[in-house]
Amino acid sequence: MAGSCLFCRIVAGELSSRRVYEDDRVVAFEDIQPVAPVHVLLVPRRHLASLADLTPEDGDLAGHLLLVAARLGGELCPDGYRLLVNTGEEAGQTVGHLHLHVLGGRRLGALG
Ligand code: AMP
Ligand code: ZN
Repeated sequence: MAGSCLFCRIVAGELSSRRVYEDDRVVAFEDIQPVAPVHVLLVPRRHLASLADLTPEDGDLAGHLLLVAARLGGELCPDGYRLLVNTGEEAGQTVGHLHLHVLGGRRLGALG
């Protein structure tokens, strides 16, 4: 599964992306179809299909994702930002590799 996963391929550098941050556990890159002036995707290097795949053993990784997302959001969107994690088809998840959207750079409307 991971071999054909779009975001695994981006993490591996097989597909190009505009990276804004990376460390040993996570990679952040610009969304290819931004819906806001700042639209960054933050993903774990390890393939996890969604939040639903997280186990208690992933607590450190989950915390790290949130901390990095908060740091990126604060740096890129000092006036405020939104974190969004679509989980499952009905929520609009289209890529089966866990990703946090970091959105900002304009006033964001209410969630629908
Ligand atoms: P979601 O709908 O929550 O699964 O979000 C998937 C996101 O991935 C969408 O916002 C897409 O625009 C974005 N996306 C799809 N392909 C790429 C790509 N090659 N590089 C960067 N972002 C992508
Ligand atoms: Zn993957």
